[in-house]
Amino acid sequence: MKIEELKNIIEDNKLKWINLQLTDLLGIFRQVVISSKMFDEDAINLGIGKLDGSSVYGFKEIYESDLTLRPVLDTLRTNPFEINTADIITEVFDTFGTKRLETDPRYVAQKTIAYTSSFGYNSLTAAELEFYIFDEIRSWLRPLFSGFEIKSGSAGYDEKTNHSLTIKGGYYVPPPFDESIKIRSEISDLLQDFYKITIESHHHEVGGAGQGEINMQALDPVSTSDNIQRIKYVSRFVAHKYGKIITFMPKPISDDAGNGMHVHVSLWNNGKNAFYDINDDYAGISQEARYFIGGLLSHGKALSAIVSPTVNSYKRLLPHYEAPIFLTWSKGNRSAAVRIPSYHKNYERRKRVEYRPPDPSCNPYLAISAIILAGIDGIVKKIDPGDPIDENIYKMAESKLRELKIERLPSSLDKALDELLNDNEFLRPAFSQSLIELYIELKRKEIEKINRTISPAEFYYYANI
Ligand code: GLN
Ligand code: MG
Ligand code: MG
Ligand code: MG
Repeated sequence: MKIEELKNIIEDNKLKWINLQLTDLLGIFRQVVISSKMFDEDAINLGIGKLDGSSVYGFKEIYESDLTLRPVLDTLRTNPFEINTADIITEVFDTFGTKRLETDPRYVAQKTIAYTSSFGYNSLTAAELEFYIFDEIRSWLRPLFSGFEIKSGSAGYDEKTNHSLTIKGGYYVPPPFDESIKIRSEISDLLQDFYKITIESHHHEVGGAGQGEINMQALDPVSTSDNIQRIKYVSRFVAHKYGKIITFMPKPISDDAGNGMHVHVSLWNNGKNAFYDINDDYAGISQEARYFIGGLLSHGKALSAIVSPTVNSYKRLLPHYEAPIFLTWSKGNRSAAVRIPSYHKNYERRKRVEYRPPDPSCNPYLAISAIILAGIDGIVKKIDPGDPIDENIYKMAESKLRELKIERLPSSLDKALDELLNDNEFLRPAFSQSLIELYIELKRKEIEKINRTISPAEFYYYANI
């Protein structure tokens, strides 16, 4: 976009305010609102000195905290919720606006794109975003009293007509059982009309307590990550408008489905899908795709620290909720970490690898980058993923798991961080050593904070001991 064009947009839309937006190292979306009068040529060419990096996760030490934000002009969009306001995504630079900040997650995703293209590939990525819409925050305490009925979100409907779904009984239900369809449709409309994000579908998910899912068009890793952040941003606004709470936490209710964020990847070479091979009878995938899967499985434990990055993530990765717990692959198996969606064996355009461990508490820029880097390492080192496992692994006997050498994903964030500490060479083309160390340090602090907190479950089980 040219500066002239930008000026016209500001004038035509009578923009008074610009939300400069960024994502910190832990994936939190932040913004500062600046006057559109400040948004001049200098701001665009030199950046805007407007960020105290010491108050943002993973950005800067306190003694050197002034950072510069440089707006990415192509991401300017008018904001549907605030009058005379536009949103723009920014990149983080040092104090003088000349050097990129190593820990800016968007930079990591850009380096991943460059690394991918050094092998002659470009990647297409997409995520399936799952979430719950609750009537009120107290629903989050319901896991303590599992076994009784959970009320779903009731968007646009009268409380009195609220329809209850059973636990895990929500998959693809239509209204009136799907009480959040209006919220999802409004979110999807605004994303398409204002943010130019193509939403391919949305539906009620398995979780009976108001779980939903939104699916987006596949794009390059940076655009996909920008879009995930914007989808969450818009979702929160719309839910709030309806007096609801939307949550992307991985496991808000103990005995209902968790929120996943399955990531889909394909690699392309001169306009051809490198993962596609019509002659492969199993799933229509190439040898490159198999090596890519080999990389995902061999680095799966370390990846967990980035794709399942919260204490709560590991409460989702348990049997019987379609969440993966084993490092295996298959075309149809939803208990496996890697799946090849095989609806169209002959469909080159949509042939892809689906990585199921991620959840929406991750930083999408880091998670998508790490997945691609693990897969490329598999291609470079020709890592054999072994045979696919097509039976329900949740039900497999321990002896058979051992015989087939099936490995589990780490069972806690702490263990996942240990794995990342020992296995991060594959990330280095885009993740600096200091970023990895800082990330681990921040996450250990998060664990410490939660471990120190007495939870209601402890009262429930121990108060009368
Ligand atoms: N909710 C499941 C998960 O946590 C996924 C369910 C599905 O999309 N089939 O990954
Ligand atoms: Mg889905
Ligand atoms: Mg789903
Ligand atoms: Mg999926």
